[in-house]
Amino acid sequence: MAKEKYYKFSEYLKERFGCRVHKVSIDAGFSCPNKDGKLSKDGCIYCDNRAFSPNTRTPKTSIETQIESGIKIGRERYGAEKFIVYFQAYSNTYAPLDILKERYDVVRKFKDIVGISIGTRPDCVDEKILDLIDSYSKDYETWIEYGLQSIHDKTLKLINRHHTYEDFLKAVELAKKRNIKICAHIIIGLPNETKEEMLETAKALAHLKIDGVKIHPLHIVKGTKLEELFKKGKYKPLELDEYVNIATEFLEYLPSTTVIQRLTADCPKEFLVAPLWILEKNKVLNLIEKKLAEKGTHQGILCPAKA
Ligand code: SF4
Repeated sequence: MAKEKYYKFSEYLKERFGCRVHKVSIDAGFSCPNKDGKLSKDGCIYCDNRAFSPNTRTPKTSIETQIESGIKIGRERYGAEKFIVYFQAYSNTYAPLDILKERYDVVRKFKDIVGISIGTRPDCVDEKILDLIDSYSKDYETWIEYGLQSIHDKTLKLINRHHTYEDFLKAVELAKKRNIKICAHIIIGLPNETKEEMLETAKALAHLKIDGVKIHPLHIVKGTKLEELFKKGKYKPLELDEYVNIATEFLEYLPSTTVIQRLTADCPKEFLVAPLWILEKNKVLNLIEKKLAEKGTHQGILCPAKA
């Protein structure tokens, strides 16, 4: 439950584990059906294609090496004592069960790992996959992170997601039957969405009582379809103040128990086309806190769902 203006992931981890916990992001070599040709080869319109090699992806360095180096950085730079391994790149449930198990099992080699978090598309899970993921919940805090982006199918179609809101609802139901926490990834500023439509996504997540949310501002990465639209004048990214206003209201609609795992985006300068305020991560976070303080409000104040 939030003690501050919004329920920060760092606060949650401290409460839950009693020490500093660092999330180690890895690329476990999985692919994505929206890029390898199963659903499409184009991917989502904002997704950067550069690092992608279809079908036969293997990690650039071993999963073990990536975890070792993430733990080292977490200890030295952030004073972390425990770690959550985040299977981040592409769709980390998109492979046969034996391969999934082999790659997830690497976490068992490290004694200070307390959690496992698996990022994927909502149409890339089924009962068997979630049973496998649930089997880790005996020993680890276990999260699944579903890329939803928006509850509006017209938007999902426009951004070439190749899944629907219904797919997300089914995936949520499957995870809720198990001991798996759910984090939804959403994007603010998607093409042709009004502020009201963006806030409808917050209200829907509130009703679903999702455990965690990652909120990202849409930004344009070089070489993407979104860059083409931007250059043709067919897409205009949000201004910083617009993002701050919408993100603040988004938080107001989410339950105070939903952990906010992210409130802005990371993009290396050399890949970013626009908006440039994305590079000022701390400024964005500070402005959202300032806005909440000025309004005298906080996460959950407008939550439509009963506790
Ligand atoms: S689902 Fe993820 S990895 Fe696949 S194309 Fe979309 S953003 Fe890229």
